[in-house]
Amino acid sequence: MGDLDLATVWVLGDQLSRRHGPLGDSGPGDCRVLFVESAALVRGQRWHRQRLHLVLSAMRHLAEELRAEGFDVDYRRSADLAAGLAAHRADHPGSRVLAARPSSIDGCDRLTALGVELVDHDYFLTAAADFADWAGARTQLRMEDFYRWQRRRLDVLMDGDEPAGGDWNFDHDNRERPPKDGRSWPGVTRFELDEIDHAVLAGLDADPEVTCWGDGPDGLWPVTREQALVRLGEFVEHALAPFGPHEDAMLAGEWKLAHSVLSSSLNLGLLHPDEVVRAVEVRYREGGAPINSVEGFIRQVIGWREYVWCLYWYWGADYRTRNAHGAHRPVPPSFTGEASTEMACVEATVAGLHARAYGHHIQRLMVLGNLALTAGVEPWALSEWMRVTFIDGAEWVMVPNVIGMALHADGGEMATKPYASGGAYLNRMSDYCRDCRFDPAKRTGENACPFTSLYWDFLARNEADLATNHRMARQLAGMRRLSDLDATRVRAAEVLERLDRGEL
Ligand code: SF4
Repeated sequence: MGDLDLATVWVLGDQLSRRHGPLGDSGPGDCRVLFVESAALVRGQRWHRQRLHLVLSAMRHLAEELRAEGFDVDYRRSADLAAGLAAHRADHPGSRVLAARPSSIDGCDRLTALGVELVDHDYFLTAAADFADWAGARTQLRMEDFYRWQRRRLDVLMDGDEPAGGDWNFDHDNRERPPKDGRSWPGVTRFELDEIDHAVLAGLDADPEVTCWGDGPDGLWPVTREQALVRLGEFVEHALAPFGPHEDAMLAGEWKLAHSVLSSSLNLGLLHPDEVVRAVEVRYREGGAPINSVEGFIRQVIGWREYVWCLYWYWGADYRTRNAHGAHRPVPPSFTGEASTEMACVEATVAGLHARAYGHHIQRLMVLGNLALTAGVEPWALSEWMRVTFIDGAEWVMVPNVIGMALHADGGEMATKPYASGGAYLNRMSDYCRDCRFDPAKRTGENACPFTSLYWDFLARNEADLATNHRMARQLAGMRRLSDLDATRVRAAEVLERLDRGEL
């Protein structure tokens, strides 16, 4: 790595990889390493406490590992990123400073303005140029087409030119309702908090300007690569096989079912997507997991995860401002923990967020996202709230998932129809409704399910826009047949008022 002689590699908080990016082929003596903890970033948002702890602890752990390996590490705690860089430059005048290209558009602009040299990296499997080639002149960037291209290109789960198991997609086996047999689900190791973890927490406690919410860490989220590898091994051995059939199900008494809970480690750089999908494929080839579970998981990693990463860059900064349905409601206080809620599905999801900074993909899409869509929550506000709340939050994750997928705020570029549903879907895919004071089948009256009333109101409110989408024809026809649509919309208006006031 001769061209990095005397250079400084600035490692950002979601680039914590020793094996990839600019540190991948460097050794001690090749470069200095800079980390900057920015007080402005720590204090600037109402972070979930576990999210903030995870990033700071993982940064400090990697810094210690690099020091132990012999690297010259400069770890700064500064007012902001610019101040940290300036202090480093003052101690090392004339040193080139380079960094792997940050994972957000604003991050790239900020570091470029500070004179940092940005270099391409291999933290993901798909380079921007590869994606641009694939997108080419396509009029629709369908995830399914992208995913099959990835499978072939990366040679993942392929038997020669054919997909392993004889099909590309096993979704039809993966939409089972939640089991009612009270079965137990695979557990995960809690890692003992160490001195670094406790120091991070003490620092947060001592700073009166830090405004976190949620429970503190209990060792659930890996802060080192070693811990992340334990989590990966546990998933492959115990949870991969049962993952598929119930990946869309929700149970009030079970927070993760057989989900991998690897996303925070992937998004921080502690694990690389290639090693994750290879480990999963090996398990399949050994006969340790069925094709529907294996394919469903690999679809999430080389399909969906890479797809949203590429779309974030492909669509650029303007995409963040999209708001096709003119939605301007604030994030409901029942989401943020600032108000309690009687909606059992929201209560269970937010309780999980409070306890673990985590909810799985259907809780995000069909509970929080669905209610936000039908209530008309402002897309960027929801995206930002999710970014600072979820353990795996990042702008590149949230912008396509929230603005494009959950809130349909791009007018249908990403998702061909809005993911709006009433209580019937939640009643089918969860056990939440059983103990809820609302009735998922009712759309009017005091015990009408808020999701159901809002669903019909959403269709009526946006009828003109949605009428041009042939995939919405059946739903719109159903809405027009409702004899009590006016009363439903009156109930929806009450729901919205109470939602805003934190009284629902
Ligand atoms: Fe949620 Fe409605 Fe079911 Fe209650 S009845 S849990 S509010 S979907």
